[in-house]
Amino acid sequence: MRKGKINVQTENIFPIIKKFLYSDHEIFLRELVSNAVDATQKLKTLSSIGDFKGEMGNIRIEIKLDTNAKTLTISDKGIGMTADEVEKYINQIAFSSAEEWIDKVKAAGEKNGIIGHFGLGFYSSFMVAKKVEIHTLSWQEGAQAVKWECEGNPEFEISEIDKKERGTDVVLHIADDSLEFLEESRILGLLKKYCKFLPVEIEFGTETEYNTEKDEKGEDKEVKTEKPRIINNTKPAWTLKPADLKEDDYKSFYRELYPMTFEEPLFNIHLNVDYPFTLTGILYFPKVKHNFEVQRDKIQLYCNQVFVTDSVEGIVPDFLTLLHGVLDSPDIPLNVSRSFLQSDGNVKKISGHITKKVADKLEELFKANREDFEKKWDDIKVFIQYGMISEEKFKERARKFCLLKNVDGKYFTFEEYANHIKTQQTDKDNKVIHIYSTQKEEQHSFIEAAKERGYDVLLMETPIDPHFINMLESTLENVSFVRVDADVVEKLIKKEDELPSKLTEDQKNKLKELIEKQMEDKGFQVTFENLSEGDQPMIITQPEFMRRMKDMSALGGGMGYMGSMPDTYNLVVNANHPVIGRISDDQDEEAKGRLISQLVDLAMLSKNLLKGEKLTSFIKRSVELI
Ligand code: ADP
Repeated sequence: MRKGKINVQTENIFPIIKKFLYSDHEIFLRELVSNAVDATQKLKTLSSIGDFKGEMGNIRIEIKLDTNAKTLTISDKGIGMTADEVEKYINQIAFSSAEEWIDKVKAAGEKNGIIGHFGLGFYSSFMVAKKVEIHTLSWQEGAQAVKWECEGNPEFEISEIDKKERGTDVVLHIADDSLEFLEESRILGLLKKYCKFLPVEIEFGTETEYNTEKDEKGEDKEVKTEKPRIINNTKPAWTLKPADLKEDDYKSFYRELYPMTFEEPLFNIHLNVDYPFTLTGILYFPKVKHNFEVQRDKIQLYCNQVFVTDSVEGIVPDFLTLLHGVLDSPDIPLNVSRSFLQSDGNVKKISGHITKKVADKLEELFKANREDFEKKWDDIKVFIQYGMISEEKFKERARKFCLLKNVDGKYFTFEEYANHIKTQQTDKDNKVIHIYSTQKEEQHSFIEAAKERGYDVLLMETPIDPHFINMLESTLENVSFVRVDADVVEKLIKKEDELPSKLTEDQKNKLKELIEKQMEDKGFQVTFENLSEGDQPMIITQPEFMRRMKDMSALGGGMGYMGSMPDTYNLVVNANHPVIGRISDDQDEEAKGRLISQLVDLAMLSKNLLKGEKLTSFIKRSVELI
């Protein structure tokens, strides 16, 4: 036996390890299992190049709990270590890297910004253990097995032991303040979280399997068998070649990732890059719901199949966090703060690459099968619009395949649509006016009026649409958008000069006064338009600018206060309608008032604004008039 002192500058680094990683104690298990996996993979490599000639045997990693002895053991059948190697890798390297790590953390002075995932390695075991033993036998012929022990101070002991099996057992004597790590369910939870896709089988405890067999009489009987519980899938889909995977394999992997999600993804992208950085992964497009916050942040980040985090904020552009799936890259620096991540060159490249791949995939789907793409459109529209609004590069790419849908359910690209409406909907200033509806039912009469005039009406009904429209107006040349009820149909697209008015200015003023008096609702702005005789006598419109501002603030656009503003409406009076002329000429004040009320109510009715008492008195008045 040999006693020794670990050569470190910091007299006692263990209290520091505890303190700095307080909230993240659980990662010790990931670190130890990762080491066991590495040791096993190294042996596989040695075997494949012929250096190791022995039998690999069962190379499963085993995790064992002993609640009486209060120990947790991680055993591998990997390369093991000789006494010299323990000295070098554990006493010198592991210790100095833990110390270095702590210095870095201290220098950065940002306790909260640290992800603290990698870099601490073996010594993270002292976050939960008061004593750690390593029992190890090297793969090399004639090697002597050794035991290393340390009680969380710089003193260690190393001695020869009798261990027959190749590999390493790390035995943790769990500290009194960490007894949770002696609970089977806690360990199982951690293994499922961090080790679900590790490349070497991990065994923990047993599970019961029920099978039916025939008994002597040929009848079915249920047989119960206890078998080792394997935690992980060693070959997750993202590590396989796309050519070897079928659509169903991708779908079942999705279910493996999200066992609680019942909806199937629409399609996926298999990422596989090895230059200038290494990145693999599968991203899934879910159906994006209006309330998409709940679907966010489902992407899981792995480093060589070890789970790191499910928060990829800062690593991929915001709109991509709507996607689901996994990313695996050893090139994302993980023991740094989020703000550092955002400025890291590799992370920027990775994020740019993913954006490009997503755009490629969408374009490919669009080109390969337009019909199918249109079918999926309503479910991916929010994602694409959000991407176009927030990422300049994505916007440029998406212009080719982003679709507009009209109220009749037809889809167009921007270019197709501009060509479709150009002749009818170009105004006198050469702008192509895109007319849209946010609510097909409520705006029905306006849509019909627009259609009758030969106009096409788009459907823009989601909360993100007002922002999207703003973006399009500033991106597409000579294009402007107007909601179908923003003005009377003649005025939606200003083509030539107005018709002459049949009423004089004096008559208009008198009539305006009378209408305002008659209307209890002061919210309306009364204006006159010289429309044709065939148009409605009175129409209620909602001016585009104020309304869109209000819609935009509904989703939050830095104008939160607008949401509480009342709606603004215009009451447009058609000065050329015969009924308006008659009211103006009529001498009977009472009859005048009744007709005005009737026309206002009709205008309100077609805008779905006539409700309650007003509706009742309208019906009563109508019957009287008849
Ligand atoms: P890292 O794994 O990042 O190198 P660690 O502190 O976790 O740092 O481990 C230090 C070294 O100890 C490893 O590089 C490896 O050489 C050795 N080691 C740790 N665990 C094992 C193991 N289970 N089997 C063989 N060697 C191991």
